[in-house]
Amino acid sequence: MATNNFQSLSQNSQDSPAAHETLTISEKTDAGSENGIPVKNVSTPVIAIRNITKTYELGKTRVRALRGVSLEVQRGEFVAIMGPSGSGKSTLMNLVGCLDRPTSGEYWLTGRAVSNMSTDELADIRNRRIGFVFQGFNLLARATALKNVMLPLIYAGYSRDEQQYRARKALKLVGLEARTHHKPAELSGGQQQRVAIARALVNDPSLLLADEPTGNLDSRTSLEIMAVLQALNQRGLTIMLVTHDADVAAYAQRQVLFRDGRIVRDEPVTAPRSSQADWKLLVEADPAQRQHKHTEEEQ
Ligand code: ADP
Ligand code: MG
Repeated sequence: MATNNFQSLSQNSQDSPAAHETLTISEKTDAGSENGIPVKNVSTPVIAIRNITKTYELGKTRVRALRGVSLEVQRGEFVAIMGPSGSGKSTLMNLVGCLDRPTSGEYWLTGRAVSNMSTDELADIRNRRIGFVFQGFNLLARATALKNVMLPLIYAGYSRDEQQYRARKALKLVGLEARTHHKPAELSGGQQQRVAIARALVNDPSLLLADEPTGNLDSRTSLEIMAVLQALNQRGLTIMLVTHDADVAAYAQRQVLFRDGRIVRDEPVTAPRSSQADWKLLVEADPAQRQHKHTEEEQ
């Protein structure tokens, strides 16, 4: 494959008919009814949060991590959550990701009220609707890329063939079809994070949550990851990404700024940066980057 990943991603989305079936970016909406009651229509936001607070109790100390946050994210948006350390970004991601419950306030995920769900219901909606990507890639060191991506499916009751089929599709979507049998130590940092993204996508989630996904990566590799995320978003995936890096946030369509547990700014990005254009600039400035990329893909 004599092409870089960004080109192969864009080819996937534009040229190759086969690529169109590599992965359906889910638009699960629970459309229809719940207990016979219609719960939503097509314009239901993926995330609707109203006046959420989160207070952590640490012995006698109370940390008010979120102090009344309201936020709506529509299908297909690419939102960057920004703000200084301690401002509540990860707390918000944990709530949105159904890993934790708010102290007060309401949260609807694709139209379903999450705030009052039981622990089991939360786990279920989390597994079916949400993909997570973290700063540390959290891959199993002894498992191949394919096995790592299959993991979320093992508990979902798919046959082994179906698990492999879906995992390969997800790896192809992040440009790693040639790396299925590599273990994490045999992959670059960018490739490891792409495996983690594939793992997050394999359950066909409604929402991808990424908390500082480029936090451990150099700027060239960050660009590689942002290109993958931008390409996925262009295919319709809703993405919420936490970053304190303005260069990374510049690729999003909307920036939400946190301070002291509150949203202090929420604005569209008038001209989001294009990762593909930036990649071309990088290669023009330093043709060795292109060579490097080729070698990496052809090994
Ligand atoms: P950010 O991701 O923006 O750096 P966090 O959401 O991690 O911020 O943290 C917000 C505040 O909540 C901080 O003061 C942090 O120390 C506190 N905090 C976060 N998680 C916990 C926890 N599990 N227990 C107690 N305090 C916490
Ligand atoms: Mg954080």
